[in-house]
Amino acid sequence: MQMNEKQFSMIQDTLRRAQAHSEFYQAKFREIGLEAGDIRTPEDFAKLPFADKADLRNAYPLKLQAVPDEAVVRIHSSSGTTGMPVIIPYTRKDVDDWAEMFMRCYRMAGITEKDRIQITPGYGLWTAGIGFQAGCERLGAMAVPMGPGNTEKQLQMMVDLKTTVLGATSSYALLLTEEVQHRGLRDKIALKKGVIGSERWSDKMWATIEKGLGIELFDIYGLTEIYGPGISISCSQKNGLHYWDDYVYFEIIDPATGQVLPDGEYGELVITTLQKEGAPLLRYRTHDLTRLLPGSCPCGCPHPRHDRILGRTDDMVKVKGVNIFPSQIDQLLQKVEGCTSEYQVVLEKEGSKDKMCLRVESDVEGSLAELEERVRRAFKLKIGILIEVQALPVGALPRSEKKTKRVIDKRYA
Ligand code: ZN
Repeated sequence: MQMNEKQFSMIQDTLRRAQAHSEFYQAKFREIGLEAGDIRTPEDFAKLPFADKADLRNAYPLKLQAVPDEAVVRIHSSSGTTGMPVIIPYTRKDVDDWAEMFMRCYRMAGITEKDRIQITPGYGLWTAGIGFQAGCERLGAMAVPMGPGNTEKQLQMMVDLKTTVLGATSSYALLLTEEVQHRGLRDKIALKKGVIGSERWSDKMWATIEKGLGIELFDIYGLTEIYGPGISISCSQKNGLHYWDDYVYFEIIDPATGQVLPDGEYGELVITTLQKEGAPLLRYRTHDLTRLLPGSCPCGCPHPRHDRILGRTDDMVKVKGVNIFPSQIDQLLQKVEGCTSEYQVVLEKEGSKDKMCLRVESDVEGSLAELEERVRRAFKLKIGILIEVQALPVGALPRSEKKTKRVIDKRYA
């Protein structure tokens, strides 16, 4: 998306504040000999270095802070599975802006002050619960601040208080769906909508929850480093998520080269905060895989859209010069009749060239060779390269309860 003048002037302002007050950015700019004043036009923006989660960890505990201590009203922290956590300080304005964005999300989902929102994500250092809560209060709806777990109590509140909106992760929403069905509570609950914030969750899961609870779902996105959940949400069209481009600027880059990609192409989402005071971030690499959707949405909302999150860019492999993401293969196989969802990719070198073999499973009687040919054609069409395909009978590929290893790269062994 083209950067507009207003966004650029907010970025210049952010740069000035970062250079003046943020230890993190002072060091980063010094390293490459950059001054805030060097960024004079929107084209200069590309000169700014990316920030990565590892950089943010090195700023532990409070080197990201870009305001005096007395301006900070709260901190949040992202729980890293490895290494130091990242601490994000918030000013009064940051907290207000986040509530404003979250309120817009609820409105996008058609939620009003008459609704009762049962909030099941966790409260505390993590941003989820508090974000759902602040947006709800800003909207004027009734918050039922449950926090996670205690399914018994959740169901009791759902029935007795007649909550109309469920705020949850996709996995917890699925668990509640199964419990509601199992206990025959479908007629006793008053839920109409679900606002679901999660990492990648499948269309199948979406359909299961919607059908199981008889509600309409909305996919909400965000991350602690950039406020928290609420920077974008899907609309009634179910075709991408609108993001609040007066608070955040989005770019999509090739994760391997860092090159900015045109709208419509898949790559890594990079976010710049436009108004954040406590810990502004410039060109933050999210490692989330998506694309920007060109054109306007039939729902009439003027804010631009990104596609649903397809997965993590860390899972990407480069074959014959083309970036391939396992989630693309997932999607592709869903559309090929006669395939199960299981697959395995084997990468080898043939001379100096890459060779890719895609192993799939057939779940119908019939010629494996014919299925192989159909997968090969679908792959060429969707991803653009020719590969070998090997079709196997159902159950031939390994399954594991945890994350199945789907890519075996023997090229550099
Ligand atoms: Zn829309």
